[in-house]
Amino acid sequence: MNKKLIVITGASSGFGMEMAKEFAKENYPLLLLARRIEKMEALNLPNTMCEKVDVTDKDSFEKAVRKAESIYGETDLLINNAGIMLLGDIASQDAKEWKAMLDVNVMGVMHGMQIVMNNMKEKKSGTIINLSSIAGIQAFGDHGAYCASKFGVTGLTRVARAEMSAHNVRVLSILPGAVNTELLSHTTSDEIKKGYNQWKESVGAVNITANDVAKTVKFMYELPQSVSLREVIITDTMQDN
Ligand code: NDP
Repeated sequence: MNKKLIVITGASSGFGMEMAKEFAKENYPLLLLARRIEKMEALNLPNTMCEKVDVTDKDSFEKAVRKAESIYGETDLLINNAGIMLLGDIASQDAKEWKAMLDVNVMGVMHGMQIVMNNMKEKKSGTIINLSSIAGIQAFGDHGAYCASKFGVTGLTRVARAEMSAHNVRVLSILPGAVNTELLSHTTSDEIKKGYNQWKESVGAVNITANDVAKTVKFMYELPQSVSLREVIITDTMQDN
């Protein structure tokens, strides 16, 4: 059977990059999206188009998807993975950081869903996997706007799942705990970053990898279209919360 197009946002590092490598091993046609195109191109994956896209810009996001679809056929899987985490306490964090998170983590996901949903509805097939987080169902200190964005992803994924179920389209979410990637590095407070790393090390939650998450996403997709693994919470075994 011919493999169908997979679109991965945020494929220039972390989970997205590992997903790209895992799917490429089985020669899925891929569209990789992020702002740092050079990182995606450096992977040199077969059957793959890389486009410089900021997911907050719906027009360029859609243009890239249509360009890939004109070559590989319609999108069968969209992974809305691009995200940022800028930790800070609500009383003092700059509102610009809140807006940046809500724009990328919520609006970016909504853009992606709308770009592929109508074709999937028409075909009565397709899968969307959104990256939420354990912070999308639980509260953590200094995670105010990040939790707001990821609770948002959990909620909008559940709504989309219900809306798309009659069309045989799967809308799933994966909710990882702490995994070592570039994610934490964008937080501006060194004290918060230090505290986060100290907590991970003190409980020993340091062994789960981005590749573990990527393989789980691949497993969710490769189940039959009739099987919807709606929400998967995945953490290091030693994560205590
Ligand atoms: P990374 O920081 O390693 O990767 C984030 C990716 O998102 C990068 O490829 C980045 O690419 C991309 N990105 C960020 N902003 C934009 C944008 N505006 N437009 C397009 N792409 C963008 O983090 P992770 O791999 O850890 O994170 C992936 C997802 O998983 C995120 O949604 C994150 O919230 C979620 N998550 C991560 C957890 C963890 O502990 N690591 C836990 C739970 C959830 P570029 O900068 O090149 O644009």
